[in-house]
Amino acid sequence: MIQDLEYLIKLQEIDLRIYEQEMAQEKFPSKVIELQKEIDDIGSKLESTIKKLEEIENETGKIDEQINNNRALLEKSQSRLSSIKTNREYDAVHAEIEAQKNMINSAVIRKKNLEHESEMLNTTKNETSAEYDKILNENGPQIKDLKAKIELIDSNISEIMKEREDIVPKIGKSVYRTYELIRKKRKNRRAISLISNSKNCTICFKILEPQLYNEIKRGTKLILCQNCGSILIWDEETTKTQHA
Ligand SMILES: [Zn+2]
Repeated sequence: MIQDLEYLIKLQEIDLRIYEQEMAQEKFPSKVIELQKEIDDIGSKLESTIKKLEEIENETGKIDEQINNNRALLEKSQSRLSSIKTNREYDAVHAEIEAQKNMINSAVIRKKNLEHESEMLNTTKNETSAEYDKILNENGPQIKDLKAKIELIDSNISEIMKEREDIVPKIGKSVYRTYELIRKKRKNRRAISLISNSKNCTICFKILEPQLYNEIKRGTKLILCQNCGSILIWDEETTKTQHA
């Protein structure tokens, strides 16, 4: 029995390593997505700021054109003043001039507002651009590292599985079955409670009866914790160093 129990301890250690890889397989890809999303979010903020700036530039160009047209019309109207003959005509031209001046004034105001908006957007653009570089520098290498790790997980698992396949045939069938039954029920895959001089179950921490404790120490049969159902095995390694 002692041999079986020693192999069980090794098997537990192998299974925990597999579990660790499986956890990484589960968590790393979503971490990559999270890090990438941070880059993308700031990237699209930068993009939309640049787009808005372009729109403002376009609109400013159109307003400039409009102002030039209105100024040309204004000059034309003003030059007509000298050749006017009737009062009615005079009033009409004056009304035209007034209207053109108003259009020019409101266009100039709109242009000023756009210039102000453009200034603010340029500040946002510079800040966002700096933030984008910072996040890219931080998250980029992390993503690369995680992706490299993800790529290795499958081969890591198959390497550890080989170790498992080597050890399983060495364990008595019913001992192995019991271990598997308990392990599969545990979320953290831990089926074995290693017992040392502290005389309690290391999984549920229940204090062990002296007789049970001595039986575990002898290691001649498979003993389960009456409280949590874990396999209780004497921890040769730890107790050796404790005595030393
Ligand atoms: Zn227990």
